[in-house]
Formats: sequence, C-alpha cells, structure tokens
Amino acid sequence: MLTKQLPFTKDDLERIAAKFPTPFHIYDEKHIRANARELIRAFAWNEGFKEYFAVKATPNPFILKILKSEGCGTDCSSLPELLLSEKAGIVGAEIMFTSNDTPANEFVKARELNAIINLDDISHIPFLEKNGGIPKIISVRYNPGKLREGSLIMGSPENAKYGFTREQVLRGLAELRQKGSRRFGLHTFIVSNDLNPDYFVHTADMLFDLALEIQEKIGIRVEFVNMSGGVGIPYKPDQKKVDLAYVGEEICKRYEAKIRNSGLHPVSIFTECGRAITGPAGYLVSRVLHKKEIYKTHIGVDACMANLMRPGMYGAYHHITVAGKEDRQPDHVYDVTGSLCESIDRFAVDRPLPEIEIGDLVVIHDTGAHGHAMGFNYNGKLRSRELLLRQDGEVVEIRRAETVDDYFATLDFKGLKGFAA
Ligand SMILES: *Cc1c(COP(=O)(O)O)cnc(C)c1O
Repeated sequence: MLTKQLPFTKDDLERIAAKFPTPFHIYDEKHIRANARELIRAFAWNEGFKEYFAVKATPNPFILKILKSEGCGTDCSSLPELLLSEKAGIVGAEIMFTSNDTPANEFVKARELNAIINLDDISHIPFLEKNGGIPKIISVRYNPGKLREGSLIMGSPENAKYGFTREQVLRGLAELRQKGSRRFGLHTFIVSNDLNPDYFVHTADMLFDLALEIQEKIGIRVEFVNMSGGVGIPYKPDQKKVDLAYVGEEICKRYEAKIRNSGLHPVSIFTECGRAITGPAGYLVSRVLHKKEIYKTHIGVDACMANLMRPGMYGAYHHITVAGKEDRQPDHVYDVTGSLCESIDRFAVDRPLPEIEIGDLVVIHDTGAHGHAMGFNYNGKLRSRELLLRQDGEVVEIRRAETVDDYFATLDFKGLKGFAA
C-alpha cells in the first residue's frame, strides 16, 4: 500500500487541535529547512548561487525568516509581498522583484528597497525610468515562445502573457545599458509543478546559450541567470521527487562546457522555488463534521476550498490520511467535501480510504505551498489559522484564524447614508 508519512501522531494532532481548533494549516520547520538545504547543496559548485523563495507560495514572514536563516532571499511580485519580505528583514539584493502588469508604486517601493528588478516587458523600461528610476543592476524575463513547450498550469509560452521575446531581450538590454544599467541578469519561468529533472537542466542550458548570444551580439556580460521555480513535488504517493542533486550536477556539466571559458565566468545561478521548499512540509488538518449517504458517500469536513483551492481549481490530487487510521486498509470509497455552495468544493473524489467516522481528523498532505496563500472569502468563508511545528516539537500559531469582524472590516457602515447598523 502506497502511503505518505506524517510528522505527528493522532494524539499529537488532538493535543494541537485542543489549543488551536481545526481547520488549520501546519508547517514542519525541520522539513522546510531540509528542503532549502537540499536545493542549496545541489548548487554548491556555483559560487553565487542563491534561492529566492517565491513569497506567493507561503506568504508568512515567520516562514520567510526561517528561510532567510538558511541563506535564502525572496522573490516578490506585489507591494504587500515586498512589505512581507521587509518585515522578515530581507531587503536589497536579497529580493528579486518579478512582477507583471506592474503598478507604478510597486516599482517605486522595489527601488526604495534596492531589490533586483526583473522586468516583464520592454515597455516597462521607460515606465520604470519614470517610476523609481533605472537601477544599476537589472534583470529581464525571457519568454522563449515556440522554442519550449508549456504545462497545464502555465499554458504554452507562446500564449503566455509573460516576458520579452528573444529579439526584445537583446534590444531591451541595450536600451537599459544606454539608460545607465551596468549589471545584468536573465530570468525565465515556463513550467509549473514539473517533475522531470531534465526540464530544469534544459532551462539552464537555454539561458546559458542566450547569455552567450547577448555577449556576442551586444557585448553585455550577463552575470546571473534565474531559472525561477516550477520544480514539482510528488503529490501522489507513487510519484518521484525531482532529484535536485542530479539537476545541479547536470547543470554544472553544461556550465563547465559553455560558460567557464567563454569570458562570462563567473555567472551566478538563481532559483525561485516555492512549492519544492514548503509544499511537502505543510498539511491542512480538518475535522469530519458530517457523513452523508446519497448516491455516493460524502465526508463533510470543516475545511473547504477557501482553505485549499488546488483540488477544486486544477483537479489536483492531494493525498489524505485519516489520523490514527494510518495502518487500516483503504476499503471504503469517499468524496471528501467542504461546505462551499459550489460542487467543485471537493478535496477528494472517489478516494479509497479507511472507514471514516464523524469526529475523525483528516489530514490533507502537501498544502505548504499555494495552499493557505490561495485562500479567499467567497461564500463568507474565513481563512484558517497557520501553525508552525518548531524543530523542538513546540507548536506555535503564526497566523490566527480570520474572524467575522475581519470579514466585516472593509464594510464602511457609517459611510452608508440611511443604513443603521
Ligand atoms: C509562482 C512563481 C514562482 C514559484 O513557483 P513554484 O511552482 O512555487 O516553484 C517562481 N517565480 C515566479 C516568477 C513565479 O511567478
């Protein structure tokens, strides 16, 4: 029987839930640190290597602080993400600002923090010049178009809204140099949640080739290439995790062949992994409220799609463990559902699980990235709390649950004439 392990027992979870009622996301600090170390170790051969953790995956400053202590920076894409990063003490070149359709005030804040700005479009060069100014160090996002295939979540690069065309990369970098930039980098992000390690090797290789072409054609020395994120995780128990050591070694071979003696060396490699760092280290814990027998058996839990959107939105698989029933046979078939008035609000469809009773704790795996972060308030649903399992076993609350008062906080009753609240 293929399963996934939990870092806590049913008794642990009941103790935690007695203090912090369900539903909650809980993150395992030890696991987050191990994932960051594994990535950094894979690129130890590259002196300037840096992981810029994608804040959007787990936008909580306590998590960012943990990652900072492992040597990571942040990849931010909005003003609040820049502020989260600043709160965690991550500023300057420790921030990569990769936005698109960017509002002026976000460029201004990114410049104020001295973040590395990664431009999404050639027309953003004059826009940035007016709003914050052209920095000495700059990066541009490359969209390879037809040259690469895409993925389910991102679509094909040719249809995607992101990045510069190849011709624009050359023209844009020359324009940036003319406007005062002196240090240059390249970025690309094409696939999401990909488990094929060779994909990332090809991406690095593609950026090396482009850096060489830039040097040859316009005499600009690219000093870093940012392969961004998209490293998948094995959501299903029979999937294999991406072998990062292999990815690092293969990229090293290409670096040695192409870059070492090209006049470009040293080129730093950057990544912006989100999912691969925090995804497998998070769990959504929810209690069974109802068991409904109609044409199918529906297990109604106290979490819903507002706490984890991926299954409803992408039909994504998330493994489920019933706490305390880890060793029982999955000899029942259930839909595990939330309370949203939307039929897609299901964490699992026709899932073989051990027999479930009302009151059981259901643990949904791999929710550490793009989980709580994608939460919303549709249907008056409130976002859950976030907990952190520290390395010493202590559990701390790193974000409280939303309350009805939070939900009402943006309604200005006083401003509504004739409305007596
Ligand atoms: C979302 C995103 C990432 C992180 O993606 P993961 O799949 O979580 O690794 C990195 N870079 C950019 C620009 C992104 O938009």
